[in-house]
Amino acid sequence: MAAKRKDTDDLPGGTRAAQPSPAAAQGDVTPSMAQFLEIKTANPDSLLWYRMGDFYELFFEDAVAASAALGIVLTKRGKHLGEDIPMCGVPIHRADEYLQRLIRQGYRVAVCEQLEDPAEARKRGSKAVVRRDVVRLVTPGTLTEDTLLDARARNYLTAAFLSPGAAHEQATVVLASLDISTGEFEISTLPLADLAGDLARLAPAEIIAGDTQAGERTLSQAFQMIAAPLTPVPTPTFDSLAGERMLKAALGTADLGAYGAFSRAELAAIGALLKYVELTQVGHRPVVRPPRRAGRGAVMAIDAASRASLELVRSATGERAGTLLAAMDRTVTGPGARELAHRIASPLTDAAEIHARLDAIAAILGDDLLRERLRDALRQAPDIARAVSRLALDRGSPRDLVAVRDGLAVAFDVARLLADAAGPIGLPAALDGLREVLAAAPDDLASSLANALIETPPHVKRDGGFVREGFRPALDEARRLKEDSRAVLAALEARYVEATGVKTLKVRHNNILGYFVEVTQQHARVLGEGANAAIFRHRQTMANAARFTTDELAEIEGRIASAGERALALELEIFAELARAVAAAEAALSRVAASLAVIDCLGGLAELAADEGYVRPEVDATRAFEIVGGRHPVVEQALRRSLAGAFIANDCVLGRATAEQPLPPGFDEAADGFIWLVTGPNMAGKSTYLRQNALIAIMAQMGSFVPAERAHIGIVDRLYSRVGASDDLARGRSTFMVEMVETAAILNTATERSLVILDEIGRGTATFDGLSIAWATIEHLHASLGCRTLFATHYHELTALSGRLNGVTNVTVEVKEWQDEIVFLHKVRPGAADRSYGVQVAKLAGLPAPVIARAGEVLRLLENAEASGRRVTDSLDDLPLFAAARPKSGLAQQPGPGPLEEAFAAISPDALSPREALDLLYRLKALASAATRE
Ligand code: ATP
Repeated sequence: MAAKRKDTDDLPGGTRAAQPSPAAAQGDVTPSMAQFLEIKTANPDSLLWYRMGDFYELFFEDAVAASAALGIVLTKRGKHLGEDIPMCGVPIHRADEYLQRLIRQGYRVAVCEQLEDPAEARKRGSKAVVRRDVVRLVTPGTLTEDTLLDARARNYLTAAFLSPGAAHEQATVVLASLDISTGEFEISTLPLADLAGDLARLAPAEIIAGDTQAGERTLSQAFQMIAAPLTPVPTPTFDSLAGERMLKAALGTADLGAYGAFSRAELAAIGALLKYVELTQVGHRPVVRPPRRAGRGAVMAIDAASRASLELVRSATGERAGTLLAAMDRTVTGPGARELAHRIASPLTDAAEIHARLDAIAAILGDDLLRERLRDALRQAPDIARAVSRLALDRGSPRDLVAVRDGLAVAFDVARLLADAAGPIGLPAALDGLREVLAAAPDDLASSLANALIETPPHVKRDGGFVREGFRPALDEARRLKEDSRAVLAALEARYVEATGVKTLKVRHNNILGYFVEVTQQHARVLGEGANAAIFRHRQTMANAARFTTDELAEIEGRIASAGERALALELEIFAELARAVAAAEAALSRVAASLAVIDCLGGLAELAADEGYVRPEVDATRAFEIVGGRHPVVEQALRRSLAGAFIANDCVLGRATAEQPLPPGFDEAADGFIWLVTGPNMAGKSTYLRQNALIAIMAQMGSFVPAERAHIGIVDRLYSRVGASDDLARGRSTFMVEMVETAAILNTATERSLVILDEIGRGTATFDGLSIAWATIEHLHASLGCRTLFATHYHELTALSGRLNGVTNVTVEVKEWQDEIVFLHKVRPGAADRSYGVQVAKLAGLPAPVIARAGEVLRLLENAEASGRRVTDSLDDLPLFAAARPKSGLAQQPGPGPLEEAFAAISPDALSPREALDLLYRLKALASAATRE
């Protein structure tokens, strides 16, 4: 259906300027322009979508910006202060699509609706303006539509508030985050130094901060690292009293005691957050679940750079593919995937909580049938949380009611499956708690939704057609009347055919004439003759047809229209009733939705463990870090997919729970350090090994089985991973500078419970400077911090440290040399590498042969000089000039065949006579000796 513009009399226009001028609003502008200017002035930072019939129209600069951003035609409409007004329009049926594109490009949109029917306005006079106002501000952090959201990702709006008063070193910051599409709410208070890491964990879609705070150096640096738009809001909206009042209202409680103690700063952040939501939702209240606390110590602290380097939920290129999340995700629902992403981003630090999660996975893993049935049932589960939230914001559709209905049905199914699987010892506590929530789902709501709604209703409520027959007698009656009238129309048509004798007479309908009788032109005369003339009144002549109306038709039409209107009004009433019932059960539904998400997440993790052969880790308060037969979860799957061979498992022991625990085969007591210094050739697999151990720690503490034969991990409080630093030219830091800033952050904040993974610290500067920094860093980690550390390096000199420091163990990644080539074995074993094989790896990478040959020559010279105690620079004087050393042609010339190879290639032995073969032999011999001479 083509969208059409209505109400064109009510356009801003007829005045004198091309830019909206609020001042002009006071003066000689038309009432409609005054209305537009008033609304635009109130929403200066947003593109104003101005509803005109079936279009949202944009004017002035908004039109110019939107037409460029959306690639739609820019036209003009009317004049303002003597100049044309630029205009573009978006048809409402494509509004979501265009909204999504604008939001993605960083725009905010104010949606201004007609608040009354234009016909109503006309009753106030022909010049009366249709009432309009902004009903919603659409910003990246306040989306609710499925079409605008990623089903498998959370969409947080985060308010950041710097606690006033404290000196910079002790300054704390509060982050209050709400996903209004689900009601998920999280609050954390953390040291300012951890801000960037926690923002990276939350990955907000939009950040709000006080306008006087947003510029603070540490805050603004952290905001810059997170690629989320920042919206400054007036600092006074960070008001703890207002926050307390609004939080109580949002949770429907008079006392917050049940939700824990909130500091003034936390309430202030909550205040600004809820105020912003109120502003953007224009009075509609979203669902808000009780806040989850993720403050100091509750989750493993992982800074932003480590998250990026470990590619937990987003890869270096910003995608999902290639991440730990992608490798681990076996969930079957959007909410389950969101829960998994949350768990990966927020590993726990409480061993009991971790074990509760692991118990639940073990139970599902140990019962294949249960796992299969749970996952089958969950596949049918819609996104209840997002549906409930849309209904609460008065943006719901019949499909959202159906989502709640079907979601509740799945909840009961899952509760039953779990109860049936309980067995004599019962379910683990975590699973049983989830079962209880599901079994207690509101069944009265479930049955009224099931009784009220048809199986698959339409997407919008405005046309009705979603209520089941038999649910409400009054609706059935109105519908019957409408249907009966249809039968009456058919009978009337038959009667008219008989009365007029015109067999092709038809009763038809269109939006302009309503019901009419249509005959072909040649029969038009018959209807105007005799008795017929008194019945049929001519209305319209078409090229081939004539149209008439009759009194009876008008009367039936009236009946159909009023029955239709009544039926629609009843359906909308039923919709409102059901939406109210959903709202009343909101808290229970939120719990059900959260439980289904958790069960899907647990089921997915059990499936992953079964598919990939993962084991249950031991997690406790010791300082153990024993991983036997560990694998990299992402690389392992990638190797399998590319059929590039099996992943080689490796051990890592940075601490043993008890001294009795044997070390892995091949390792002896000499390998009992908590700092493992990893040397080995390039490409041997050092980075993979480093990362896999960090990932295994994260997997264990998020409560997942891990890719290893055995794993025992003493809780890690903070994880640092510096593998493959990159430069940060945007902030004016070179690679080396970034590396040093990050190393400083580690040495200043790591504790004895932390896990530190460092790769090639000290590159990018002169060899001796780099080596010295790396040396001193290891000594500090060893003596002052005592944290479990993996340190990879190409400075083989560092391996001497193991002789001086008890806690340092050398390990190396094995390679084999074969005919001047290296074969990577990817096996980590005790000991130190003697060389880096950089030249061989460069050869593998395709560096030109002359460069490789020359590099080999330089390397040999340097090594000899070192062995004989000569200065390296002196030894370089012995090096022949590059030009002299370069091969000229023939055999030694690489790549491309020489004359000898070409001659060989041209030979067809079967075509040669004995004589020719002898001649050829002489020729080849001559060619070979010529090549050698060159
Ligand atoms: P560089 O010092 O050049 O950065 P590296 O030693 O860190 O190299 P990685 O990048 O970890 O090497 O590994 C190189 C490649 O070797 C990986 O892309 C992977 O395909 C393969 N690889 C690494 N570890 C293993 C393993 N344990 N089993 C099988 N293949 C592996």
